[in-house]
Amino acid sequence: MLPTLRETVDFYGLMANKALGQNFLLDSNITDKIIRQSLAQQNISDFRQVNIIEIGPGPGGLTRSILKAEPRSLTVVEMDSRCIQIMKDLQVETDTPMHIINGDALLFDPTENIPSPRQIISNLPYNVSVPLLLKWLSQISEFSALTLMFQKEVAERITASTHSKDYGRISIIAQLTCSIKKLFDLNPECFTPAPKIWSSVLLFQPLENAITAKDIAKIEKITALAFGQRRKMLRQSLKSFNNITDKLEQIGISPTARAEEIPPQKFLELSRLL
Ligand code: SAM
Repeated sequence: MLPTLRETVDFYGLMANKALGQNFLLDSNITDKIIRQSLAQQNISDFRQVNIIEIGPGPGGLTRSILKAEPRSLTVVEMDSRCIQIMKDLQVETDTPMHIINGDALLFDPTENIPSPRQIISNLPYNVSVPLLLKWLSQISEFSALTLMFQKEVAERITASTHSKDYGRISIIAQLTCSIKKLFDLNPECFTPAPKIWSSVLLFQPLENAITAKDIAKIEKITALAFGQRRKMLRQSLKSFNNITDKLEQIGISPTARAEEIPPQKFLELSRLL
């Protein structure tokens, strides 16, 4: 029989490693809630039809909740080799086909060897959460959903609207690829050890007309310039592009506007003109 999560952590003497962004969720009420709310928002009652990829399973609290939803298969990718035996212990106890990868999620291609439909679920390591998200957004049509936990301030940047100080590159790319719903916030005491800040769980569902990796690369370039000097007028911050004033006017953007006034769709139109 499977020991409790606390017993597992004590047995393996698993102290959190800060360098790996480790803040563990050891309360099954919370990990079950993440899965329950993700399923509810997707109007499904389990993951029987879905191949799940979990990034950074750590001691396996969220992994146990995922397994309760009976995925077609579960692939876990964990950098910390101390957690691999814990995953092997879970593998012995479950009927779900489980693949355990000891490696860096940044180098892992979730589409290789894992058939669709696929979904990624993760309490993300905060130090690589944005690069991981950008990587998955650039291949978003490969996934049916992403259920991801971020530091609250990163979640606010992802969901920010125009005219907000949080609005920027990541809001634009995320909102041009997905419909995004915040499931709930978690206070620091939910984690072991407790971080200083709150966290939020977001559900990303790909848009039918999501932009492609090529669009994203161009938008990255434009938004880096536009938001790098976010108080400047666009005709100034984007002056390295030929005829920028005419091109802004052509798509109905005032050349004196500032980056944070421009909605994601207009950045897309601009990227296709430049
Ligand atoms: N899922 C566990 C939980 O909720 O308790 C742990 C979450 S912890 C915030 C992040 C996990 O990601 C840690 O287990 C850490 O070792 C792992 N990790 C950190 N960087 C990683 C990377 N580049 N690739 C794969 N896993 C990574």
